[in-house]
Amino acid sequence: MEIQYLGTAAAEGLPALFCDCEICKKARDTGGKEVRTRTQSVVDQKLLIDFPPDTYAHAIRYSLRLGQIQHLLITHSHMDHFFPVELIHRHEHFGHNAEGMLHVYGNAAVEKAFYDAVLIERFKVHPLDDAVRFIRLDPFADFMADGYHIIPVPADHDKREDCLIYIIEKDGKCLLYGHDTGMNLSGRAWECIFSHQYDLISMDATMGRMKTDGYHMGLADDIAFAKILEEKGCIRPDTC
Ligand SMILES: [Zn+2]
Ligand SMILES: [Zn+2]
Repeated sequence: MEIQYLGTAAAEGLPALFCDCEICKKARDTGGKEVRTRTQSVVDQKLLIDFPPDTYAHAIRYSLRLGQIQHLLITHSHMDHFFPVELIHRHEHFGHNAEGMLHVYGNAAVEKAFYDAVLIERFKVHPLDDAVRFIRLDPFADFMADGYHIIPVPADHDKREDCLIYIIEKDGKCLLYGHDTGMNLSGRAWECIFSHQYDLISMDATMGRMKTDGYHMGLADDIAFAKILEEKGCIRPDTC
C-alpha cells in the first residue's frame, strides 16, 4: 500500500488566502514546500481521501488521472475536506473517458453537501447518475471498496456531524488515517482502533506546538496517541 500526500494544510491553506502575517508572507516569497494546500491523500492511485478545493491544483501538480479513480472517502463535510461542486465535472460532458463510477463515501452531512452541490439548477442538464454515486456511511459499518477493507471510526471533531477517521486494510497492510480528530474518542472508537496493528498511522497535527482539548491534535497529542497505541500492541517496529 502506498500513500501519497497531495495537501497537508488546514482549512485556510498556507499561505492563507487573505493573510499578510509574517509566516504567510514568507511562504508566498519562498514557495516550494513552504506552500501547503488543503488536505488530501491518495492510496495506490486508487483510493482518494478527501476532496478539498485544491483537488484541481493537486491533479495538475502531480499529473493525477482522477478520471481513473472510482472510490473517494470523505472524512467530514468541512469545506477543506469536501468541496463537492467540483464533482459535477466528472460528467461525460466535461470528463471524457472517466472510468466507470466514482463512489463517494461519507456521513449524512457530506451526503447533504453532495446533493446540495450537484443538484443545483444550472447543472441539471448534466445529471451525475452515470458518473458519481454517493454512499452513506455509518460509524463502524465496515465495507469493501476495490479490494480495500475500510472501517469508518467516529472522530473527536465537529459534534454536529459524525466525522470519521478510517482504518484501511489491504494485502496484510493496515493504515490508520486520522485527520481532523482530537484525542477524546469514544470507548468504542478506541476499542476499534486497538483491534488492529498498523503499518502507517497518519495523524492530525493542526495545533503544532500548541495544545487543545479535543477537536484537533498538536505534536504532543500525536506523541501521546502513538504511545497509547504502542502500549496496546498496535505498533510494530517498522510502523511509520
Ligand atoms: Zn498567515
Ligand atoms: Zn474539520
